[in-house]
Amino acid sequence: MAPPATETLLIHRAVPSTEDDGYGKKEETFEPIDSTKTVDDKFVIATSDAITPNENIIAEIGTDMNFKREIVWFNAIGFLALHLAGLAGLYIMGERLVDGVGHGCNGQTIAYFVVLTFLSGMGITMGAHRFFTHRSYKAKLWVKVALLLFHTMAGQNCLYIWVRDHRQHHKYSDTDADPHNATRGFFFSHCGWLMSKKHPKVKEYGSKIDMSDMENDAWVMFQKDYYKSLYIVFTLVLPTAMPMYLWDETLINAFLCTFFARYIVQLNFTWSVNSVAHIWGNKPYDKNILSVESVFVSIMAGGEGWHNYHHTFPWDYRTAELGMPFNLTTHIIDFLAKIGQVYERKTVSDTVLRARLLRTGDGSHHSLHGHHHSEPVPDPEFADLSKYIVDKKQLEESLSTKNANLDNNQNEIKSK
Ligand SMILES: [Zn+2]
Ligand SMILES: [Zn+2]
Repeated sequence: MAPPATETLLIHRAVPSTEDDGYGKKEETFEPIDSTKTVDDKFVIATSDAITPNENIIAEIGTDMNFKREIVWFNAIGFLALHLAGLAGLYIMGERLVDGVGHGCNGQTIAYFVVLTFLSGMGITMGAHRFFTHRSYKAKLWVKVALLLFHTMAGQNCLYIWVRDHRQHHKYSDTDADPHNATRGFFFSHCGWLMSKKHPKVKEYGSKIDMSDMENDAWVMFQKDYYKSLYIVFTLVLPTAMPMYLWDETLINAFLCTFFARYIVQLNFTWSVNSVAHIWGNKPYDKNILSVESVFVSIMAGGEGWHNYHHTFPWDYRTAELGMPFNLTTHIIDFLAKIGQVYERKTVSDTVLRARLLRTGDGSHHSLHGHHHSEPVPDPEFADLSKYIVDKKQLEESLSTKNANLDNNQNEIKSK
């Protein structure tokens, strides 16, 4: 008699959703199937490495490495100047920290720099990314407005454009239709894409991104329509004026530290998600994509570096598996959920997670090596079954038992 695990594993089948979720990959759901039915290949969810939700699109679009990008010199020189001024700001703060009072900027300006960087960082990770792009949780109006304001402070273009670019990045990852196609290497995916004319495929496929939720959001469209004025007030003037008004900081110090230095720190943290987290790291959840798990980026970008997970399960509000460290954004969302200000956080059940990592992972997941960092998230539907999907070896063994049983059955039929 076959062990119960055999039956359990084979009664799940992956059903790619017929509806495009608008954010890139199609969400897989798992349906129980009648175990008395003939078991055929497509029902064996954990063995087929061939299926990745966007594989066809990637093959179709691909990356033309011979394509010559046209440099936009105005942007290139602008970014260079921005970085030089930002480095001067960092130097001034460093001088104060190293040489003490009387050198560099005012001490309060450094604390203010940290607070502003944190808040505008949350505007990006918790706001533009997890809330607006992926709709991975819901929030009370004041939280949404605060996130919109913090996002404006970061100065990374209006939400509408930020979200469209990011949805496009998920939908056509690592192809010419991805605005920061990491197949073109570190520099292009980090910042080179902002200094070159868009690839025609970026334009072509960008218009196909579903932005209806954003278009129906009056707050988002207000920010889009008045972005230039809002930028001048919230990115440039207010951050610079406050230290001058409150603790007599000089104009030049306030400008270099709270505008330029903050700007380059924040941009490079955000850009690292597109570059570093698509190049250097492991792929426990899906080995067929470029995005990786990066501790470095997670520390820098508030938990956004667990990027192989995020591209595999983009709807998960944690952008990482439960229990992964360095996920500041998730802690803040969880805290706000505890006090009832955010709700309906989307996650991934343990059953779906394990099935997926066995099917497409590179084998580096900690659970395959006997380490368990976290408690499994129970799947309400398959709670009692999830314990059977434990590791690859067990899976392979149970599958071979199943196949042997099928062979025996067929032999029996033949011999009759
Ligand atoms: Zn990415
Ligand atoms: Zn994302």
